[in-house]
Amino acid sequence: MAPEDADVLSLECPHCGETFPSAIPMDPPTFATIRLESMLERCSACGHASRFSKHDYRFRSA
Ligand SMILES: [Zn+2]
Repeated sequence: MAPEDADVLSLECPHCGETFPSAIPMDPPTFATIRLESMLERCSACGHASRFSKHDYRFRSA
């Protein structure tokens, strides 16, 4: 088991409530060190683009 390899950086869409994977490929140790102001990302479920800040990102196991 290598849980960190399976963790996918994910976001919850404010429009449809679906969880979708971020377009940013990132592992937890790297993510912890970066500075992230706000990112525009598009929901893969409903297609709405929304702005997300660092606290909106969650790692989920794939
Ligand atoms: Zn959505």
